Formats: sequence, C-alpha cells, structure tokens
Amino acid sequence: MTDCKTCALVERRDEGTAPPWDSIMRTPGWDVVHSYNSALEGWLVLVARRHLTALAELTDAEADELGPLIRRVSLALHEVTGCAKTYLAQFAEHPDHRHVHVHLIPRAADHPVGAIGPNVFRLIGDGVGEPVGRERMDELAADLRVALAVDRR
Ligand SMILES: [Zn+2]
Repeated sequence: MTDCKTCALVERRDEGTAPPWDSIMRTPGWDVVHSYNSALEGWLVLVARRHLTALAELTDAEADELGPLIRRVSLALHEVTGCAKTYLAQFAEHPDHRHVHVHLIPRAADHPVGAIGPNVFRLIGDGVGEPVGRERMDELAADLRVALAVDRR
C-alpha cells in the first residue's frame, strides 16, 4: 500500500535508516517504536510489520508474539518511566495509518487527571502539549533497550 504512512515507516526500519526512537526493538512480526507525535514520554506503539487493517488478519505466529511482547514492553516501561500501569489500545483509524498498531502507554501515579483512561489520547496528535523532543525520545529508546534486554521468563 503506497498511501500507508505506517508501511513507509516499516520500510525505513528495513533500510536501517530509522532513528533510535523509531526502532527500539523488532521481532519477526512487530516493531516497537516511540510515538512520533505524543506529548507523553514513553508512549510506545507496537506496529505490525505487515500491512494489516484488522486484528483478525494476524497470523497465529503474529498473534502468539503479541501477548508476551505486551508484557515485556510493559515491564520495560514500568522500569524506565516508573509508571503505575500501562494502557493498551488499537484502532488503526487515522487516514494515514489504517495499519494495525497497538498503543502501549505508560500511566504515571501522578498522571494528569484530564488524561486518565481514553482521555490519554488528548496527549497525541493535535491534542494538548508539545510532542516529546527527538533527543529525549532517543534517550528513552536507549533506556528501554537496556530494560528489554533483561530475560524475564
Ligand atoms: Zn501499512
């Protein structure tokens, strides 16, 4: 799909030209990246490496990877951001990103009251606040890589 910006970002990772924040970890089925337009530090996205528009299109292998990946990345977010829990959401509705991607969002103990639950989506896109800077996202990516390298089985 040439008009899918998510596919273009996957291709950039395949070419090895993605910045660290946009290529934190890759598995056979999924890319773990920092959101490029969120005001919340540590807002991660698990991106299907194939162009899928619905979760029902996942292969068994892709689905089998997803559960453990959600746990593993959540543990890393707890360690790096000190969050109290993580939120999980999948819509694939933005016109540029109709491609399965799962938001995995750290919710801090002192998280803004106005961004609790589904309202956390005020902190992405054209919502509240400045997007996290590229340098800070790269720092977070480095810390997350260290946390993800720990064997937690
Ligand atoms: Zn796509």
